[in-house]
Amino acid sequence: MKHFPIFLSVEGQRIVLSGGGEAALAKLRLLLKTEADLVVFAPSPAPEIETWATEGRLTLHRRALAVGDTRNTALFYAADEDAIEDARTASIAHAEGALVNIVDNLEDSQFITPAIVDRDPVTVAIGTEGAAPVLARAIKADLEAKLPATLGALARIGKAFRKMADILPMGRVRRDFWADYYFNEGPRALDRGGEAEVNKALQALVEKHEKAEQLPGHVAFVGAGPGDPELLTLKARKALDAADVVIHDRLVAPEILELARREATLIDAGKQGFGPSMDQDEINRLIVSHAAQGAQVVRLKGGDPTVFGRLDEEIDAVEAADIDWHIVPGITAASASVAAIGQSLTRRGRNSSIRFLTGHDVKGFADHDWQALARPGEVAAIYMGKKSARFIQGRLIMHGADRATPVTVIENASRPDQRTLATTLEKLPLDLAEARLNGPALTFYGLAPRAAQTALFLQDQELA
Ligand code: SAH
Repeated sequence: MKHFPIFLSVEGQRIVLSGGGEAALAKLRLLLKTEADLVVFAPSPAPEIETWATEGRLTLHRRALAVGDTRNTALFYAADEDAIEDARTASIAHAEGALVNIVDNLEDSQFITPAIVDRDPVTVAIGTEGAAPVLARAIKADLEAKLPATLGALARIGKAFRKMADILPMGRVRRDFWADYYFNEGPRALDRGGEAEVNKALQALVEKHEKAEQLPGHVAFVGAGPGDPELLTLKARKALDAADVVIHDRLVAPEILELARREATLIDAGKQGFGPSMDQDEINRLIVSHAAQGAQVVRLKGGDPTVFGRLDEEIDAVEAADIDWHIVPGITAASASVAAIGQSLTRRGRNSSIRFLTGHDVKGFADHDWQALARPGEVAAIYMGKKSARFIQGRLIMHGADRATPVTVIENASRPDQRTLATTLEKLPLDLAEARLNGPALTFYGLAPRAAQTALFLQDQELA
């Protein structure tokens, strides 16, 4: 982020603009929405500017800007649409301590003006750092259509009512009250009879929510999927939206954590594969202690929480504390990985079953029914299989597996940095070492990417 969005307090502040043409008009239309003290310098101003000056909405000086004109000025706009004049006025304003924007000159500007969706006091600012004005306009049009025109009125009335709502207990009850106001009762009351109705509805709502009981604590064990936020379920999104506390593993992508309610407490239980980690008892205690205080806890796990996620230990702890819980399934790494190579997990005539294996368990490298796996046509999705690759290879070959059996490793499935390594059982450990994968990786034993050509393509492209 090269530009950090903030909302600047401009009430009563001096904002100066130099210019009297189209660019000046476009900026002034926005600036007139503010409560700033607007001053325009233009030797030949457009008629609209003259009108605004007559109406007392800005102060107009029919001359070029000169030294001293931008003292005590918060913002300065150079909008003369003339590079030399803009540079001259900007340098005066800069020297006099104003923040400077030169219209259509991102490089020499200290700030930029975003595209704005105005539902005052609700304001949405959209910026693309100059990269894609078309995109900003499209997003603006989309939001204009989505946000009801009454939103501003509701927010204004709501703001005046804030103190009255303070009698509700903080946290969930108060939040539910406001959600009920903005999304149900408020818009209906406004339709019925304007501001007076809304005020009545607010009174009634406070009484209704005063009686509402605090929800008891609850734990949702939620699958965050393999990384792509679009692979989250709607239920996962809802749970994140309602969470007071989100306890997540290391595998959960930051883009997904961004979706948690803004006030939610995020706790990284950061279970590293081999590195230091919060131990399981500690995690259990953390979940229970938050839920016991009445929090809506989301225990967010990579992929599907029921796959190699130590879910049962956490459920046992939660049940022992007599706390309600439920599971929201997620897309497991095997599903995302198989999609990435254009294959099916099962296929008529090839494999009518698929095993999910872990490369290691509490005792170290995990043991499996190697004999059964070594039979031709078997397919297994191996989780946490990087370090154990040589061990698994050895066991399988020892039990008669064909050394030419295809093996595909997918790293960071569904993420922008996804990579695919197509190899064979024989070459697996060597190729793995060479590829230096350091993200989470899933190994398919018995599956190659859909076509040999695809495999070569993937290899060339992604391991180049
Ligand atoms: N509950 C998770 C698995 C947890 S075990 C799930 O259902 O996916 C952690 C292992 O999952 C990693 O070592 C890796 O083998 C696999 N994994 C998780 N996310 C992955 C991803 N985006 N791409 C490839 N493998 C992944």
